[in-house]
Amino acid sequence: MLSIIRFFICAMILVAAVACTAYDSTGLLGPVADSDGTHVSFNPPSDIPYNYANMLKGLPGGEVLDIGEFILFFSYINVSNGNALCLFEYDKRTGEVEYFCKNATCAHNTPGCAAYSLNGNLELVDGTVYAERKIINNGAYTIYMVELINGSFVNKAGPDFGVIRHWGSKAYGQTNDGALIYMPDSGKPETILEYFPHNTRVIVDGYYYTGIIEEIVRIDLRNPPYEPEIVVLPKNNLPIFTTDGTNLYYYDEFFHMVRSDMDGKNQQAVLEWPIWPPSVNFDDEYIYFSLYTGDSSEPENYNLYRMKLDLTGVPELLAELGFRIQSTYTFYQYDKLFLTSQNNYKLYAISKDGTGLAELMLPK
Ligand SMILES: [Zn+2]
Repeated sequence: MLSIIRFFICAMILVAAVACTAYDSTGLLGPVADSDGTHVSFNPPSDIPYNYANMLKGLPGGEVLDIGEFILFFSYINVSNGNALCLFEYDKRTGEVEYFCKNATCAHNTPGCAAYSLNGNLELVDGTVYAERKIINNGAYTIYMVELINGSFVNKAGPDFGVIRHWGSKAYGQTNDGALIYMPDSGKPETILEYFPHNTRVIVDGYYYTGIIEEIVRIDLRNPPYEPEIVVLPKNNLPIFTTDGTNLYYYDEFFHMVRSDMDGKNQQAVLEWPIWPPSVNFDDEYIYFSLYTGDSSEPENYNLYRMKLDLTGVPELLAELGFRIQSTYTFYQYDKLFLTSQNNYKLYAISKDGTGLAELMLPK
């Protein structure tokens, strides 16, 4: 079973990589046109706790962003040479979805469109929305950190600077090769870590956490020189993890969930069920997750579960979905979860009590 799960996890990572390259190959960078009428309101609840993934603080992260009355999210649209990511906004009150770009004459398939040519990594810092843009030209690509100004995403740092997230006054990003760097307000970017990091890249309390080869490591960003410190060696030899800001969550050789303090101490078993790692997310009270037993015909792999963060009680079946979850998103002070399905990457909203599953219908 382990090898099957390993295969699927590698496949999952590959799918993500392919998705990232599915851009319009003519996507040359030009000045980003003003997109007439694009509006967003930035009034999220202040001081959103870390355990909500909408602030690019965990895996999954950066594909969904709570900005107050609306939730921004990426979904795929058809373009001439395949599918491409496009940015949409979901109205929390009505459940309706619109293009992020409000230009009525825009086809939302050119780099000038505020909804198109982004690559994820959404983040909201002090009222400013950041994202990553990938530019492909003749098969080569580079990445930029972009900032939302007057309804358009404008290059802020790059080329070769994709944002991971901000901490303090600095933007921490990665290069095309995956090295971790930061961009001072002025001057030359500084390299912090040259390894290609694993999928999870988060900053908690001044430490940058990521996976390298078989280890979960952290780097104290306050104390150069920046030396990676091994925090955990997961028993499955895969540095796949997430965090609620208080604990690191990772897996043993059977993909049973284990957690520890952020420094790797006080390891404890969370659940001896085979967990699908990208599906894990948190709110104030619960851990949400789905399973993967290695056999797609088993119905329990199509279920959404939750269990108490304090590990009391037994896991609770929330919903039988009919699809396998890729990612789960939680939102602060909002009673719905977002789920992405693994086979078609459609997004769904579902109430936290497991009722009212509804696909987010994209505008025509
Ligand atoms: Zn547009």
